[in-house]
Amino acid sequence: MSITSNLNTIKETLPEHVTLVAVSKTKPVSDLMQAYEAGQRIFGENKIQEMTEKWEQMPKDIQWHMIGHVQSNKVKFMTPYVTLIHGVDSLKLLQEINKQALKNNRTIDCLLQIYIAEEESKFGLDENELNELLTSVEFKELKNIRILGLMGMATFTEDQNQIKKEFTNLKSIFDSIKDLKTENCSLNTISMGMSGDYQLAIECGSTMVRIGSSIFGGR
Ligand SMILES: *Cc1c(COP(=O)(O)O)cnc(C)c1O
Repeated sequence: MSITSNLNTIKETLPEHVTLVAVSKTKPVSDLMQAYEAGQRIFGENKIQEMTEKWEQMPKDIQWHMIGHVQSNKVKFMTPYVTLIHGVDSLKLLQEINKQALKNNRTIDCLLQIYIAEEESKFGLDENELNELLTSVEFKELKNIRILGLMGMATFTEDQNQIKKEFTNLKSIFDSIKDLKTENCSLNTISMGMSGDYQLAIECGSTMVRIGSSIFGGR
């Protein structure tokens, strides 16, 4: 199967309210360009350096999403161009993004990553930490970031019930905060679902899926 036909097949199955992030990490620019030629404009990468190299080489109407874990000291390399940062999991990181966004005269959209899996290796805030962050004075002072919603990754397992439970949990945490009226929040996005579980994620309320291997092949 070609990248073009993989992409078209997936797009046909996605409801209109769900945004597709084509996860292109480790793949060469020539592969990304095939997706671009097929109309894809949103790409997700998990390393800032790799994303920046691709941004430099590719057409400028692409929206670049950082989906990986972000180290504060590398934020500055993507602030000139990044469209959405999915994996924000601390106030400290948000403060650094705000500082760099201000320097670039921008407001940068972010998602807060929530820990929903049963795996030690995954990052994210729990529900208490999320509420603490959103209600803190320090958070309200950040004028150059905007929180669009939440992101989560389910446990890597075959157990559909387990995955469904975790996605449902993320949706209910989102519902508990979605009416929050803070100037730097505009909550409308739930980023959940990858190649193996995106259909289930959509059933559970996802509005943004991050799909890599089903488009570009295995890594
Ligand atoms: C790699 C990655 C994906 C895509 O995974 P696939 O299984 O290839 O679709 C989605 N989200 C994150 C955070 C990733 O790192």
